[in-house]
Amino acid sequence: MQGDLAERLLAGDRRALARAISLVEDDRPEGWELVRAVYPYTGKAQIVGFTGPPGVGKSTLIGALTSARRAAGRSVGVLSIDPSSPFTQGALLGDRIRLTEHFLDRGVFIRSMANRGALGGLSEAALQAALLLDAAGREDVFVETVGVGQAEIDIIDHGDTIVLVLMPGSGDSIQALKAGVMEIPDIIVVNKADHPMADTMIREIRGVLSLANLDRTPEEAKQAWRVPIVRTEAARGEGIAELVDAIDAHRAYIVDRGLLAERRARNLRAEVLGIATARLRRRLEADLESDERFRELIDEVVARRLDPASAAQELLEREL
Ligand code: GDP
Repeated sequence: MQGDLAERLLAGDRRALARAISLVEDDRPEGWELVRAVYPYTGKAQIVGFTGPPGVGKSTLIGALTSARRAAGRSVGVLSIDPSSPFTQGALLGDRIRLTEHFLDRGVFIRSMANRGALGGLSEAALQAALLLDAAGREDVFVETVGVGQAEIDIIDHGDTIVLVLMPGSGDSIQALKAGVMEIPDIIVVNKADHPMADTMIREIRGVLSLANLDRTPEEAKQAWRVPIVRTEAARGEGIAELVDAIDAHRAYIVDRGLLAERRARNLRAEVLGIATARLRRRLEADLESDERFRELIDEVVARRLDPASAAQELLEREL
């Protein structure tokens, strides 16, 4: 049966895709097996990650981009990652993702994923889901995350191109860029560009980007990708063609210089480490649940006879 599901998935069957994503989301062994079977067929999709504060227009923008890609005859997959929402799929979709016009289009597959509470669970599942979309032949995969927490950043790092979406007034994000909390993305979108503060915001962003350039030698600066700032009004479809061009230009830039392969190698390394870490932690927690010595160690720590690091060290020495 599993082989059959893999075959249907590789043939692009939407129901197989939906089922497969549910399996990985629920952390079912069949899901992992499926990913193992189809993994050799992945690596073809163009994965673009979108991040930025809630309400700036990411979903609207993805809706407009989806229309543009569909008009060009490409198939699209959208993953919306919303760790703050207790819902999955259904209830959430109509509300959060402003993609209703695409629901009936068989060339568009939309899926929303929320946190299951398991450590590393969401980013793990989201990355597997992106692989499944890729295996099912989706040419463009748009991954949207809400917020700027670590889990969201982990997911977004796995895109080939990272788009930061801002709107006039989202000064916190500019501060985060300036402080180096947030990595410089590949493309910055200023949405709701009809706002009177849009020009001021673009000037501020230019300032931050030129600061980032100061760390480079003149030669590096000449070679480096110049982060475009794209003005859009997603709700009216303004600036979408420019954003499509910017995404394609970035893709061409990283492919030509061999950076795509480098970026993917780095991301895959992080993914392997991430999965291993999450599983080690789970295994450790399960092992310790009914472990007498563990309880004793904690009692010692609570009584201040043993420090936390020494207790951890003893556990590790026993485990490994
Ligand atoms: P997200 O939370 O970042 O995904 O933002 P949404 O796509 O849900 O958009 C938030 C709100 O902004 C919605 O009411 C959109 O209709 C609205 N919106 C999106 N783009 C624009 C725009 O270019 N101009 C204006 N004025 N409103 C927009």
